[in-house]
Amino acid sequence: MDISKPNLAIFSLTDNCNSKCTTCDYWKESNINELTVDEIKVLLKSLKKDINIKKIILTGGEPLFRADILEILREIRKNFSFNNTKILTNGILLQKYCKEIAKAFGHITVSIDGSNRATYCKIRGVDNFNNIKKGIGEVKRENPSVFFTGKFTIQKRNFREMSEIITVAKKINLDQISFAPVNAIDNYKFSRKGRIINQNEISNLVLNTREMLELEKIIDEFVIKNDKLFENRFILQKKTKFKNYILKKFKSCLNPSESFIPKCKTPFLSLFIGSKGSIRPCLHQKPMGNIREQKLKDILSSKQYIKVVKSVAKGKNKRCVNCEIASEFLQDRSNER
Ligand code: SF4
Repeated sequence: MDISKPNLAIFSLTDNCNSKCTTCDYWKESNINELTVDEIKVLLKSLKKDINIKKIILTGGEPLFRADILEILREIRKNFSFNNTKILTNGILLQKYCKEIAKAFGHITVSIDGSNRATYCKIRGVDNFNNIKKGIGEVKRENPSVFFTGKFTIQKRNFREMSEIITVAKKINLDQISFAPVNAIDNYKFSRKGRIINQNEISNLVLNTREMLELEKIIDEFVIKNDKLFENRFILQKKTKFKNYILKKFKSCLNPSESFIPKCKTPFLSLFIGSKGSIRPCLHQKPMGNIREQKLKDILSSKQYIKVVKSVAKGKNKRCVNCEIASEFLQDRSNER
């Protein structure tokens, strides 16, 4: 595969967010200096024409939190077909923009980190559990062919709710549910910018040794009970890798000697565009240039960019330590529907 020609663009529309999650610092960001709608128009054309990007994922912060989101959605629709678009959202504004969203996105991933209002509020820092359930329903009513994945980030406050979230997911008509262990200790991820996470924060997220034993038991029972849901892909992750995928990350939080660097294909398949125009091989890598100063094609074919992509593929890139995205990305089976 040509390194400079991935076929997926992951575009962060804003670093700002309207949730206040305990797992993340994005909501502390401002929206100053974001790409304007005019700059986005040029970018989208360049993605299609210059590097033949076929698919786009909108992310953030919270992408729907931009005041000019409707104009941006119109541009997305002009450049990408329904089945080639996806958005990662906290779901708070789904109801408000349901008509436009239902026309623009073939696939929507919504974070749903609790099976009930109380847990959701504790983790997301805002009282929107019922609101996002309504939003999913409204979008589905507008367009039943929108594919919905719920994303459940497993952590201390919700690990006992894995079975309950399956019940909720079915009740609110999700097409799929995805589980991911929380990313609690990487000081450069989730907009932490080197802020050292304090012990109190860590202990509110990461399971202790006793809870880890409980989680192992929960997962063993969960896998047996939900055999069919793994098979019919209602649960995104593969059954055979599910337990290891979740436990490995938590073990690396408890014990640095369990840290790992995955070999990852993400930068071969996609590029990441920041809200202010930076270009990176993936969200967690350093910016390699900015489309306000350089042509996209030139950034992707620079020596520096190619060097990073190669080091990632060989599992030698330090920024990849304990990365959960790599395995999650490669396990995305929603497109096989
Ligand atoms: S392993 Fe993670 S940090 Fe590294 S390139 Fe892949 S997705 Fe990015």
